[in-house]
Amino acid sequence: MSDPDEGPELEARLAEQDVFEPPASFADQANVTDPAIYEEFEENWPDCWEAAADLLEWEEPYDRVLDDDSPPFYEWFTGGKLNASANCLDRHLEERGDEAAIEWVGEPVDEANRTYTYEELHREVNEAAAALRELGVGEDDVVTLYMPMIPELPIVMLACARIGAPHSVVFAGFSADALATRMNAADSEYLVTCDGYYRRGDPLDHLSKATEGLTDVDHGTETVVVERLAPNGDDFDHELAADQTTYDDLLAGHEGATVDPVTRDAEDMLFLMYTSGTTGKPKGVKHTTGGYLAWASWTSQAVLDVKPEDTYFCSADIGWITGHSYIVYGPLALGTTTMMYEGTPDHPDRDRLWEIIEEYEATQLYTAPTAIRAFMKWGEEYPADHDLSSLRLLGTVGEPINPRAWKWYYKHIGGEECPIVDTWWQTETGGMMITTLPGIGDMKPGSAGPPLPGLDVRIVDTAGEEIGAGEAGYLTVQKPWPGMLRTLYNNDERYIEEYWAEYSDVDSDDPDDWVYFPEDGAKIDDDGYITVLGRVDDVINVSGHRLGTMEIESAIVGVEGVAEAAVVGGEHEIKGEAVYAYVITEEGYEETDDLRQRIIDGVNEAIGPIAKPEQVIFTPELPKTRSGKIMRRLLENIANEEELGNTSTLRNPEVVEDIQRTVQGD
Ligand code: ATP
Ligand code: MG
Repeated sequence: MSDPDEGPELEARLAEQDVFEPPASFADQANVTDPAIYEEFEENWPDCWEAAADLLEWEEPYDRVLDDDSPPFYEWFTGGKLNASANCLDRHLEERGDEAAIEWVGEPVDEANRTYTYEELHREVNEAAAALRELGVGEDDVVTLYMPMIPELPIVMLACARIGAPHSVVFAGFSADALATRMNAADSEYLVTCDGYYRRGDPLDHLSKATEGLTDVDHGTETVVVERLAPNGDDFDHELAADQTTYDDLLAGHEGATVDPVTRDAEDMLFLMYTSGTTGKPKGVKHTTGGYLAWASWTSQAVLDVKPEDTYFCSADIGWITGHSYIVYGPLALGTTTMMYEGTPDHPDRDRLWEIIEEYEATQLYTAPTAIRAFMKWGEEYPADHDLSSLRLLGTVGEPINPRAWKWYYKHIGGEECPIVDTWWQTETGGMMITTLPGIGDMKPGSAGPPLPGLDVRIVDTAGEEIGAGEAGYLTVQKPWPGMLRTLYNNDERYIEEYWAEYSDVDSDDPDDWVYFPEDGAKIDDDGYITVLGRVDDVINVSGHRLGTMEIESAIVGVEGVAEAAVVGGEHEIKGEAVYAYVITEEGYEETDDLRQRIIDGVNEAIGPIAKPEQVIFTPELPKTRSGKIMRRLLENIANEEELGNTSTLRNPEVVEDIQRTVQGD
């Protein structure tokens, strides 16, 4: 895609340039083109959010945009009535019934792809809704979904939405334990799961894990099993128990059934999502029908620039909030074509994503920095073999993207013609919060950008006072927004404690006294651009200096030969804490003392001697959650020779012991 002859010159230009303007070809056609939006939203707050609500079809109009009578239990679009599945399906039928709603790229490669038009998806969702009802699912019953990236996952999510039953999706990669904890916490009596799925071409048993989890559920359950493997003859000799039925059996007799979408209140729960659990005990984040759907839709349109004619590709897992908001709800509410990829990016080869983008002519790619660093590590020849010119916009989410990876993404995937949106948000925020608007905002690699219009984000010190540009502080959101969580399920007290208590006057009824605290550190520059420094509990205290892990990691991955790094604090007699750096080398680089030294020098140069790693530990992999986040807590346990904490939400539990051996052998 990029001309190799232009290589060195381009490289030099990219290295110098720290601010990138939106490419003109993009800006001309962007959904949001007028910078006055920031001012307009501020002046017109909270009514500015009617713009988001207007993207939805309401059965009955709302009478208040924001009800802030009893903070922090805010309500949005109160009195309004709607149904999320009707918004994602029915209203598109007339104009877009024959257009693709979901392009599913399944495994085994090339054999299992499937297009669902809006018409087809609508039919499948209706049948599933009828079947769930037959099973006994009523309005407000929580249905747990424990499935990988197969079409039945969004189909059942939308079927639940249709009958007003909140879903709680649990990552397929999570353990039996994690499933049981979440079903118990949500009092969920229904589980939809599958017999198994394919990973890198091989069948994997899933039902045994689900069934094992069910033995720890403390109430009666009904289980529906989607047969993903059985029709292909890949069988694990599962025997279904009396309270388990197959999805096909349940659907039998409901062919062509239609189910009227249940009228839901704007504030009725749409779903529960337990946070990935990088830290502590999982929290049941509650999202509602009106505010959440409006937020997912508005941000999809304004930030991801989604248009109905797009083929939009988000490579996240639907078991993560990113997949909820930006594979399922946002894109479908806007009537576009959303892609769903079941496989991994390196099977059958490391160009799998580029092959898919070329074949489907995908227009956006939304992925995570950890994936981008893997692509970088594999080498630019993989994307170079493919025509990626259909891409118009690139996005990242999940952690800060270091400038080197940003520039690689910009050049080798976007061909310097796609803006990159580095989007900061959380499960709790429902959708994006801090990012540039791609048609109007300059991009600064390493910084997410300004808060979205209508958001009051401030960086404060421990006392809650706003601090100046350049200083590290704490991220806060000082006004509510439609996509925000409403509470933690069945635990209003913990909701206040986790997110509000730090900076709010908890006895006050005045919304101005309430401040949302996402528990991330950040700094802001003179242009109002925010760099997220990491979770507050990921701060290392070296000789009284507070260092953000993400800043040190960013310095390390800036060193040539480093693909990925994780930094944690280990106890140190003199300094209190010392920096331990776990490093993965790039393809073609050796784990040498020379590289170790260059890493130490790199940190010294970027941040200062205080941040220099005490130890640089080379490792082939880092412990990660299913959503691709590094579990620093475990690395800390290793650095401090403590007993390992819970590893049940890890994608790759085996690497922890490998690292432990390396460190102890050091
Ligand atoms: P848990 O809350 O269970 O510990 P988690 O915080 O990893 O898990 P998510 O809600 O998926 O679960 O992640 C949100 C967090 O991810 C943010 O609070 C922030 O720390 C980080 N994050 C997300 N996007 C970005 C970004 N663009 N830049 C920097 N950090 C980001
Ligand atoms: Mg979190």
